[in-house]
Amino acid sequence: MRSGVELAPEWFVPPEPMLTGVRAQMVEQSGVLSRGQALAGGLTEGEIRARVASGRWQRVHPGVFAVHGGVLSRSARLWAALLYAGEGAALSHQTAADVLGFRGRPDPLIHVTIPSARRVRKQPGLVIHRADRSVARVPLPVVSAAETVLDLTDVATCLDDVLGWVTRGCAFRTSPDQVRRAMAGRKRLRWRRDLRVALGDVADGAMSVLELRYVRDVERRHGLPRAVRQRATRRNGRQDVFYEKYGLTIELDGRAFHGDEQRGNDRRRDNASVARREATMRYDWADVHDRPCAVAAEVAEALIARGWPAASLCACAPGCAAAHLRQP
Ligand SMILES: [Zn+2]
Repeated sequence: MRSGVELAPEWFVPPEPMLTGVRAQMVEQSGVLSRGQALAGGLTEGEIRARVASGRWQRVHPGVFAVHGGVLSRSARLWAALLYAGEGAALSHQTAADVLGFRGRPDPLIHVTIPSARRVRKQPGLVIHRADRSVARVPLPVVSAAETVLDLTDVATCLDDVLGWVTRGCAFRTSPDQVRRAMAGRKRLRWRRDLRVALGDVADGAMSVLELRYVRDVERRHGLPRAVRQRATRRNGRQDVFYEKYGLTIELDGRAFHGDEQRGNDRRRDNASVARREATMRYDWADVHDRPCAVAAEVAEALIARGWPAASLCACAPGCAAAHLRQP
């Protein structure tokens, strides 16, 4: 299992004879203790204060201390956030995505979700959310991957971000079925309809935002036949979708740059497919995103030339480039 957090204690836990009872806890929590844990370990309030005053310990949040005066590791800061937020707290949102290995944009703030019945005071650097979520331990308490996908899509401001969290979440930690089950438990969800469609497409084999966009904006919106997803392959940021019956391959290219070596590979593949009487059409992000109707018209034309009856072909709107191809 991948984790974005370094859990090896890279700090030195000083020998604290009085705290031997909680030493294992100190190590597990990357050298961070709550006041309650320190008291349970045998220290008095006065002894905690003296350690902070002398610089032997440092206060990270109210009632949360690092048992050394050095630099705090990422995992120490995550533990400090969890201990400050208290009972039932779990890392969530971007912080959960980071810990779970979804990638995406790093967020310097630490997001923590606490049970909805509790309240916690704001702290600089922390974002406290209140909700009842299922929690996994990896080994820090983290909101489950399926719930994290929904939390992140709920704060997404555009469809491509929503699709990105769905594909990354399902590629690394969860599945369309698990996300669907988590959806059933949410009364309010900002992108519910788009999520339902995207999860169906991911379950059918779509693996990237580009491919989801192709299925949705080119194929489905214009009544094109559904490409065979089982033969979809993914190499170097490219996905191929096949209209098997018509010998047509659509190559979706999500890469920003095309090297000489790749051009050589493309040429060899093109020659091989012509030898099999197949054809390949290539589209990149800008094609699919900015001119889906033109792409649909081109693909439809190629399919019609290869025997597709085009009975289901439709224009998505007045002026759609696919309109002139409609059968009388
Ligand atoms: Zn259209």
